[in-house]
Amino acid sequence: MAECIFCEIIARRMPADFVYEDDEVVAFKDINPQAPVHILVLPRKHFSTLLDLKPEDASLVGKLILVANEVARKFNIHNRGFRLVFNCNREAGQSIYHVHLHLLGGRIMMWPPG
Ligand code: AMP
Ligand code: ZN
Repeated sequence: MAECIFCEIIARRMPADFVYEDDEVVAFKDINPQAPVHILVLPRKHFSTLLDLKPEDASLVGKLILVANEVARKFNIHNRGFRLVFNCNREAGQSIYHVHLHLLGGRIMMWPPG
C-alpha cells in the first residue's frame, strides 16, 4: 500500500511523532491537532475503512481502544475525560483511508459533534 500515507509512516518512510508502538498497533500525534491532545491510534495492517474489518479482526479493534486508554493515561487526560472517534467514509469526514482511532482530550468537548 505504497500510496497510503499512514502505511508510509508506519514503515518509517515518512516522519511522525510516535507516542506508542507494538507489533500490531502504533500511535502518533495528529499533524493538525483539534485539541491539546490529539493522537491517532491505528493498526499496522492496512484497512481502508471500518467496513473492511472482519470478525477475526475484533481483538485488534479492541486493542486500539486499550492502547488509546494507555495513551490517555500517559498524557494524563484519563480522569478529566477524552473522546475516541472513528470517521468512516466521506460524510463522516474520513480523509485518510487507513483505519485510525482519534484520541482527543485536554479541553471540554462539545456534543453533538459537528
Ligand atoms: P480522518 O479525517 O478521520 O481521516 O483523519 C485523518 C487525520 O490524519 C486528520 O486529523 C489529519 O490531521 C491527520 N493527518 C494527516 N496527515 C498526517 C500526517 N502526515 N501525520 C499525522 N497526522 C496526519
Ligand atoms: Zn495504509
